[in-house]
Amino acid sequence: MSDTLDVGSAGAALGERADGWLDATDLPTGGSERLPVTVVNGADDGPVLWVTGGVHGDEATGVAVAQDVAGVAADHAADLAGAVVAVPVVNPAGLRRSERTSYYGGDDPNRHFPDTDRDASRPPETQERIDTRLFEALTDSADLLVDCHTAQVGSMPFTIRDRVLYGDARGEADATELAADLDRLAGALGLPVLTEYPAEEYVEQSLQRSTAGAALNTAGIPAVTAELGGHSVVEAAARRAGVAGVVAAAVEFGLLPSVPEGVAAAGADVPAAPVEFPVRRFVGPRAESAGLVRHRVAVGEAVAAGDVVAEVVTPHGEVIERVESDRDGYVIGRAEGLAVYEGQAVATMAVRDDGDLVVPRDAGEDG
Ligand SMILES: [Zn+2]
Repeated sequence: MSDTLDVGSAGAALGERADGWLDATDLPTGGSERLPVTVVNGADDGPVLWVTGGVHGDEATGVAVAQDVAGVAADHAADLAGAVVAVPVVNPAGLRRSERTSYYGGDDPNRHFPDTDRDASRPPETQERIDTRLFEALTDSADLLVDCHTAQVGSMPFTIRDRVLYGDARGEADATELAADLDRLAGALGLPVLTEYPAEEYVEQSLQRSTAGAALNTAGIPAVTAELGGHSVVEAAARRAGVAGVVAAAVEFGLLPSVPEGVAAAGADVPAAPVEFPVRRFVGPRAESAGLVRHRVAVGEAVAAGDVVAEVVTPHGEVIERVESDRDGYVIGRAEGLAVYEGQAVATMAVRDDGDLVVPRDAGEDG
């Protein structure tokens, strides 16, 4: 067995860093779409941690975190047991236009990764083929994945832990074992942890086909999504928190003996969760009236059921609706824009979660 770790054109010998490219697809104007990849191969054996960013093209801080984690790993390659593989720009087409999606077909690249439990009647389109290529490279070597994102303007950093589904593709015992490693990875980042939507909503939103969702639920690799503040610009505190979190995860899983000097402690730069109970991601509450939004709760502030989260006012400033939360939790981000239409969410929240982390994929299947 060779000691070189190859990902795309980047092949790193033991104790070395290599930069290269993963071929994504050919371009109509000549040349090809390529994803930048950095491989830092440690001096000793150990797990391979993948860090991806920029699957949404406007999520700047996630790109910077993937780049900078590779930099930290390279500076400490002699102490590294295992390897770090960074793919900082998963969606170059989105990055060129500062947009979330790619432009081959306008698809969300974070919803087209392989899902073995899904029957498709149409052949895969461009974005799905690109995602499949990246997924194959990932599953060739990854033992762990942190996929770096950002959320709404002014949102607080947090980690999303997907539910582990069992069913045709994976039994309940294996899912339970995977969930234990997932929980350990999510906790290691030191950010508030939100469990993802309940299983039905998760599959409805194709989140099992996100980067982390497919790594976890299709490939069985512990994988989390780090949401690192707002989009479009690299936010300094969120970048520090992201690098600190991924490095802390590397320490937790034995890739590094300790957090290197110059890297902040995980969680040092970010607000802690203001509630003690377990929470999940929730989009809401929602306005019933069209109008202009006045937020009444700050990001990171606890909310009890019945509290007013926002008011909706007319163009003249008259209050026409008080939008209340029907759940306990806290606000992690506000919907962007002053305007709201009927049925639209005014915030994203972490709300009390009494559900299980390990759940049947098809709730109807088991009764
Ligand atoms: Zn994103």
